[in-house]
Amino acid sequence: MKKHNFNAGPSILPKEAIENTAKAILNLNGSGLSLLEISHRSKDFQAILDEAVALFKELLEIPEGYQVLFLGGGASMQFCMVPFNLLNKKAAYLETGVWAKKALKEAKLFGQVDVVASSSDKNFSYIPTGYSVPTDADYFHITTNNTIYGTEIRTDIDSPVTLVADMSSDILSRKVDVSKYGLIYGGAQKNLGPAGVTFVIVRDDILGKVERALPSMMDYRIHIKEGSMFNTPPVMPIFTVNETLKWLKSIGGVEKIAAMNIEKANLLYAAIDNSKMFVGTAAKESRSIMNICFVMKDEYKDKEDAFMEFTKSRGIVGIKGHRSVGGFRASTYNALPIESVQVLVDAMKDFESNNA
Ligand SMILES: *Cc1c(COP(=O)(O)O)cnc(C)c1O
Repeated sequence: MKKHNFNAGPSILPKEAIENTAKAILNLNGSGLSLLEISHRSKDFQAILDEAVALFKELLEIPEGYQVLFLGGGASMQFCMVPFNLLNKKAAYLETGVWAKKALKEAKLFGQVDVVASSSDKNFSYIPTGYSVPTDADYFHITTNNTIYGTEIRTDIDSPVTLVADMSSDILSRKVDVSKYGLIYGGAQKNLGPAGVTFVIVRDDILGKVERALPSMMDYRIHIKEGSMFNTPPVMPIFTVNETLKWLKSIGGVEKIAAMNIEKANLLYAAIDNSKMFVGTAAKESRSIMNICFVMKDEYKDKEDAFMEFTKSRGIVGIKGHRSVGGFRASTYNALPIESVQVLVDAMKDFESNNA
């Protein structure tokens, strides 16, 4: 049966990216060697890394003055690397979920942290507005897409201080004005590639301003100087990221995928909003186009397990909601075709007509 992969991360990737990775693992560029057994300093791999950096810059329209790094350690490593490199006295954080909380917990090890606003009062179901960012903060950190709660900051906000964003789960889903940010980071495994590689986009002029000594592996400037090759980078994941970027370019780039993502999200949100049985958990004005969270209304709560079983019979995978929200979460990342969303919408309608 065809599978419809709504996994939250690691998650669906373009079929071509997976097939080309499989081929390269068996025989890279006809070299007779596997992608897994070549030097990261070989010409073959340097070309792959260079192409991935160039495509990432092209697709996101990254301006001059910014560097792109592909590192290990995941977004979670960036939670400490960001304050290590940028926090002298005080940083401001927007608390919009578990990932934001984890990020600010690490920052507290390095200085004062001002939580300028939080949506914890309503289980992070909305994006706070109307807060002010202290102008004496070293930077302001936001999590643009809250993967667990299905909320998203979908516009590039104005910040009086250096803006830092965790874009793990919505990178390349929409156009971003990179010039508004000092640093953007994320794990690749939601929308960009397999687990194991982390992207960092950093503006040169924000670095070198902290007083503390930095261990080499923690120092962005060293990774920039070494072209992401201070140590052995995640070779195979970077190959797949490059293939994913090539796929994205081939289908029309970020503007095209953004329109497709909105179409997918609208289809599913309309089904939720028109349903007797299901209800969305995120505030409408804060809804994510990447992770769509919904539960069954109280009077149908006892049918959630039955719906889960029913969706399995349609090939639907990965829609169980995060334990802190419950219900269902459909992740509609770039590589998910709208046909899969239609299958889910049909399953919701069929289940409802049989059970409500
Ligand atoms: C998944 C996720 C993370 C954690 O990423 P790791 O690569 O596992 O460290 C951080 N932030 C957000 C927004 C995420 O969705």
